[in-house]
Amino acid sequence: MEEQIAKIREKAITDIESSLVGLAELQDIRVKTLGKKGELTSILRGMGKLSPEERPRIGQIVNEAREAIEACLEKKRAELEQAELTRKIAEEKLDVTLPGRCEPLGSLHPLTITLDRIKNIFMDMGYSVEEGPEIERDHYNFEALNLPKDHPARDMQDSFYITEDILMRTHTSPVQARTMQAHEPNSPIRMIAPGRVYRRDDYDATHSPMFTQVEGLVVDKGIRFSDLKGTLEDFLRQMFDEKARVRFRPSFFPFTEPSTEVDISCVMCHGEGCRVCKGTGWLEILGAGMVHPNVLTMSGYDPKRVSGFAFGMGVERIAMLSYGIDDLRLFYDNDVRFLRQF
Ligand SMILES: [Zn+2]
Repeated sequence: MEEQIAKIREKAITDIESSLVGLAELQDIRVKTLGKKGELTSILRGMGKLSPEERPRIGQIVNEAREAIEACLEKKRAELEQAELTRKIAEEKLDVTLPGRCEPLGSLHPLTITLDRIKNIFMDMGYSVEEGPEIERDHYNFEALNLPKDHPARDMQDSFYITEDILMRTHTSPVQARTMQAHEPNSPIRMIAPGRVYRRDDYDATHSPMFTQVEGLVVDKGIRFSDLKGTLEDFLRQMFDEKARVRFRPSFFPFTEPSTEVDISCVMCHGEGCRVCKGTGWLEILGAGMVHPNVLTMSGYDPKRVSGFAFGMGVERIAMLSYGIDDLRLFYDNDVRFLRQF
């Protein structure tokens, strides 16, 4: 019997110390050896057959074996748990030297880039940048610009009215009237007014009921048409191509007299004629003219003492020509595949 106990003890301890054993196997060994139906337990049960003198001695040997096996089990369990912890720590270790994950920063919208270029060219010429409300009074949007009620030219800008007297501005020209009124009468002005404007219109590749405009105004003593020509030629050559040819055609605007449309030689074909310029070799870029005396008078300026010129352009059209974009709606679709290219 002593031999049997020694064998069980040895076998159990060898099994426990085997490198293949995991926590689950440890539990199996515990049940097999020390459990209710375990090997050592059945020896204890069989002790009834022993003589009263032998019982305490065998009982002691069994207890020693049990204690040895339990100590061994406990030691192995602690080792396995420590190993598991070490493995987890190694696996989940935070590498603080890794670069951080960057949030995508985005980029400037092509219209913003174009507008910034326009602003910079004029600011270099000494112009200020003025802003005004997008919801405007009829007075500033039309009347102060020589467009009294029932003037037929109002139809060209069929508009979004909010009340009889308030509308979404149809051009940034009201900023010019507001700026003149904010100045001492007849004091010099050199300004541009960029911003969104609204007109009832189709929404297709070349039209939108909302678009971006830049208008400019210069008022001072002795401003002449040659100043207008020189300024706009200089601007267009800086904006598009220093070799571009510039052409002035007579036109009509209610707030300027005389008025002109300004074309540049086509930036795509350099005047040869192509699809973009519809074979003409010219691109219509902006409208301009000498400020109408009525407009000066309505803003408190004296047309006998000062004169000026004004001009206006669509930023979308300039951006489309600069980047070779053929559909205006791309600017407003917010498709990042398009926007990422700028
Ligand atoms: Zn062309």
